[in-house]
Amino acid sequence: MNKKQTNITPSEQNSLLRFDKEHVWHPYTSMSEPLPSYLVESAQGVHINLASGEQLIDGMSSWWSVLHGYNHPKLNAALQEQASKMSHVMFGGLTHQSAINLCEKLIALTPDGLDKVFLSDSGSVSVEVAIKMALQYQHAVAEKKQTRLTKTKLLTVKNGYHGDTFAAMSVCDPVTGMHQIFEQVLMQHYFAPAPTIKFGEQWSADDVTELSALFANHHTEIAAFIIEPIVQGTGGMRFYHPEYLKACRVLCNEYDVLLIVDEIATGFGRTGKLFACEWADISPDIICLGKTLTGGYITLAATLCTTHIAETISEGVASCFMHGPTFMGNALACAVANASIELLLENDWQAQVQGIEATLNKLLTPLKNHSRVVDARVLGSIGAIECKQNVNVAQIQKRFVELGVWIRPFGTLIYIIPPLIITTEQLVALVNAIATVLDEDNCFSK
Ligand code: PMP
Repeated sequence: MNKKQTNITPSEQNSLLRFDKEHVWHPYTSMSEPLPSYLVESAQGVHINLASGEQLIDGMSSWWSVLHGYNHPKLNAALQEQASKMSHVMFGGLTHQSAINLCEKLIALTPDGLDKVFLSDSGSVSVEVAIKMALQYQHAVAEKKQTRLTKTKLLTVKNGYHGDTFAAMSVCDPVTGMHQIFEQVLMQHYFAPAPTIKFGEQWSADDVTELSALFANHHTEIAAFIIEPIVQGTGGMRFYHPEYLKACRVLCNEYDVLLIVDEIATGFGRTGKLFACEWADISPDIICLGKTLTGGYITLAATLCTTHIAETISEGVASCFMHGPTFMGNALACAVANASIELLLENDWQAQVQGIEATLNKLLTPLKNHSRVVDARVLGSIGAIECKQNVNVAQIQKRFVELGVWIRPFGTLIYIIPPLIITTEQLVALVNAIATVLDEDNCFSK
């Protein structure tokens, strides 16, 4: 690969990386023997530019967040304009146009009935807020009816992922969510088996038999049911049947349980619908949004709920919802989120996602026949290869960098979720790199 000239000298790179290795935590890696980190100097469009000179085609959108590519002029301008007025003001007792405009957009775009918006700092926090809303709602309902509060637990499905904070972690898959380590401190909830019927397969109501039984047997204890709609992401890039989600809505209605849908990964077009709930034509009672809300510029999340939930909470003993982060409604984040949503709607996102899906169906799906592969699947702009063995992260990452792409596999999964502006040629380069590493034994564990 041709290396570009960069502004960070090799000796500066070495000393930065040495400090990083010794003192800086990175996600999901050991502090004593960390996986390597690559030093980035800049990023532009679909490219991540390493300080060592390699220019990489980004297949990850920086964990589903960078929707329109890096360093986008419209998003940069929105940030600069907002910064020239104010970057942040407290949201207690103060409000501003950027937050108001954003909430207006979110209410208009999300499924019907979600009319009240709570802005927060990150996806995990938006899940904490959703869970707290559900619990506070049930508290207020019991108080109003003058009955004992029994609805204090959550119901979810295995293979789920909802974030790394404690309430969110308590509804993550019990194995991959590290429930063993935190068993004594995590809230105990109910888990149904993960959906098994895949998106596009023949539906059978058998898939919700155990879930229905859990609702029937425990509904008096259950405040809310939480699920990632259509795509179980971190739990294995599993695309499940929309009828499953429809059945969840029906069960929640039948048993007076709130439906929380975590659209943090799937929102804003990723699955081919603006929100994945639309595949099942349902509206949840509470929705969580995050990741690409700001086009990948700044952390921001939102939890939307129905007017009924908001009013019930407000009529309860506390007379308000008990949450209020310092950076709630951050003006810079809201301004760039407004610009990102405008860009998404202007850019004909459906055509962008369909284009990516068609190319991946043509090129990535055939890798299903590779001897190392269990399954290759595509939905919207998400492409996943499930391998028989775990990947050797350090080695496969090194090879991807040598091949000029940025793809970060985990477990048995090599997946891509590129920025929507990616060209067919760049997608071909991503898939070719995946096909190349599949042939290399040392990229996989034994
Ligand atoms: N829910 C889902 C479905 C996610 O994919 C993630 C992030 N991977 C989260 C919640 C947590 O979001 P954050 O990392 O912003 O806290």
